[in-house]
Amino acid sequence: MRGDQFLHSLNDGRSVWLEGKKITELPKHPAFTGTLETIRGLFNQLDEPATREIVGFQPNHSDRFSHSSFLVPRSLEDLQRRSASFAYWSKSTFGMMSRLSDYARSMVTGWYAARHQLSRLDPDFDKKISTYYEQARDNDLFLTTAIIDPQIDRSQGLDDARIAERFLHVVKETSEGIIVRGAKMIATGAPYTHDFIISSFLKFESRNKKHAHVLIVPANSPGLHIVCRESFADARGQDHILSANYEEMDAVLFLDDVLVPWERVLLYGDPAKVLALRENKTANALAFHQNVVRYVAKLEFITGITFAVADAIKVDGFLHVQEKLGELLTQIDVMKGLILASEIEGQIDESGVYAPKLSYIDSARNIGTKYYPRAIEILQQVGGGGFVQTPSSMEDFYGPISKQMHLYFEGSSVSAEKKVQLFKLAWDLLGSPFGSRHELYERFYAGDPVRAYANQYLNRDKELLTDPIWKLLKEASMRGVSSLHSNP
Ligand SMILES: Cc1cc2nc3c(=O)[nH]c(=O)nc-3n(C[C@H](O)[C@H](O)[C@H](O)COP(=O)(O)OP(=O)(O)OC[C@H]3O[C@@H](n4cnc5c(N)ncnc54)[C@H](O)[C@@H]3O)c2cc1C
Repeated sequence: MRGDQFLHSLNDGRSVWLEGKKITELPKHPAFTGTLETIRGLFNQLDEPATREIVGFQPNHSDRFSHSSFLVPRSLEDLQRRSASFAYWSKSTFGMMSRLSDYARSMVTGWYAARHQLSRLDPDFDKKISTYYEQARDNDLFLTTAIIDPQIDRSQGLDDARIAERFLHVVKETSEGIIVRGAKMIATGAPYTHDFIISSFLKFESRNKKHAHVLIVPANSPGLHIVCRESFADARGQDHILSANYEEMDAVLFLDDVLVPWERVLLYGDPAKVLALRENKTANALAFHQNVVRYVAKLEFITGITFAVADAIKVDGFLHVQEKLGELLTQIDVMKGLILASEIEGQIDESGVYAPKLSYIDSARNIGTKYYPRAIEILQQVGGGGFVQTPSSMEDFYGPISKQMHLYFEGSSVSAEKKVQLFKLAWDLLGSPFGSRHELYERFYAGDPVRAYANQYLNRDKELLTDPIWKLLKEASMRGVSSLHSNP
C-alpha cells in the first residue's frame, strides 16, 4: 500500500532536528507517529477501490490512480473533481490538516499546465517542470512550500548585509547546479515532505540576482537542516484526540551550502521573472482554490463542536447564543458560496486550464483570516469556564471517585463521560498549544492579511464601482444647473 511506501521513504538520511537531537527514525518518533499514521491512511485511499475515485484520477488512462491535485482541469467537472478530493481529505482530518501536500502539488500542476506560456521566462522551463510534474505525480511525492524569509528586521531589505547573508542566496554556480546558503522561515510538514518548493518572496531590485530563484529542493539534500518547533503531539489520545493524530509540524529550514541540481532550478538570477512566475494566475488559482476548499471542513468541525457544547449544557435557548450559532452557519455558507461561485464562474484561461475565478477565492482567503479566530471566540463565549472544568484525565471515570464523576460532570442532554469528552475535544481546538497554532495558522498561512486585503483593493478594476458615482454627481449637477436657469 502507498501509505507504507510513504513511511519507508522518509528514512532517507534527512536531517530533522527536534529538542536538540537529530531524529533517526521519523515514523517511530512520538512527535510524528500519530500524524504519519493519519497520512499513511490518506495515501492508502488511492489504493482502495471505495475511495480512489474520490481522491484520485487516472493519468493518461492508466490503471494507477494519482491524487487529483495533479489533475489539470480542462472543464468545470475536472475542477469539481479536484474540489471533491480536497474536501474528502479535509473532512477525513476534520479540517485539522491543511498542508497535506495538495496545495504545493497544485502549484506544480499549475506551472506544468501553463508551461508553454511560462517558457518565455526560460526556454528550459517546459522541460524541467514537465519532468518534475510527472515524477511527482507518478511517485506520490509529498511537497510543501517554503517561501517566507526569516524575521530579522522587517524594516530592512537586501542592502542590509545582515539580511542579505541570511536570506537564501546563491554562493556558487557549478556545472551540476547552484549552491545556496541561507534560511527559510516556516515550512509546514517539512520533516515528512519529499521536496520543498522554495522561492524568493520579496520584490527584489534587478541587481539582487543572487537572491532571486524558484527551486525544488529534496528534503534529504546534504547541508539542509529541518529545525522543528516544539512538538504539540500528545500521546494521550483519549484526552487530546486532535493533538494526538493531526499535529502538522512547522519547521525552519537552514540551507548550509546546498547543491540544487540545474534540473531543479526552475528560475534563477532574474527578480522580475521570479515575480512573474510567482504571480502566474493559473498556478495561483489552482493552489489557492485548495486553500479555501479545505477550510470548509474546519468551519464545519468547529461549528459542530460549538453546537454540541451549547446543547450539552443547554445554553442554546438563549437569544445571544442563538445569534452566535447562526453566525457560525453564515461563515460556512459564505465560504461554500464563494467556492461554488469561483468554480461555476471559472473560465478557460490562456493556458487552456479551466481555472476558478480568482477574485472570489481571494475574498474567501481574506475573509477566512477573520472567520476562524471569530469562530474560536464564539466557542469560548458559548462554553464559558466549562472548558477548564474538566478532569485532567478520563481515567478519573474509572477510579475511586467514579461515582462523583458521573454525578457532578453530568450535562443537560449528555452523560458526564460524553460531556467531559466533548469539552476536552473543544479545549484541544481552542486552548491547547495545538489549537493556538491553528488560530495563528488561519491568520497568517496565506501571507500577511493586512497586505492581502490591500492587494485585493489595489488589483481591482475600481472604475466599475466609481463610474456610476461620478455619473450620478454629474447628472445631479446638470439638473441643478438647469433648475437654476429655469428659476429666474
Ligand atoms: C502556522 C504557520 C504555518 C505556516 N506555514 C507556511 C508554509 O508551509 N510555507 C510558507 O511558505 N509559509 C508558511 N507560513 C508563513 C506565512 O506565510 C507567513 O507567516 C506570512 O506570510 C506572514 O509573514 P510573517 O509571518 O513573516 O509576518 P511579517 O511579514 O513579519 O509581519 C508581522 C507584522 O508586521 C507587519 N508588516 C511586516 N512587514 C510589513 C510591510 N512591509 N508593510 C506593512 N506591514 C508589515 C505585518 O502586517 C504584521 O502585522 C506559515 C505561517 C504560520 C503562522
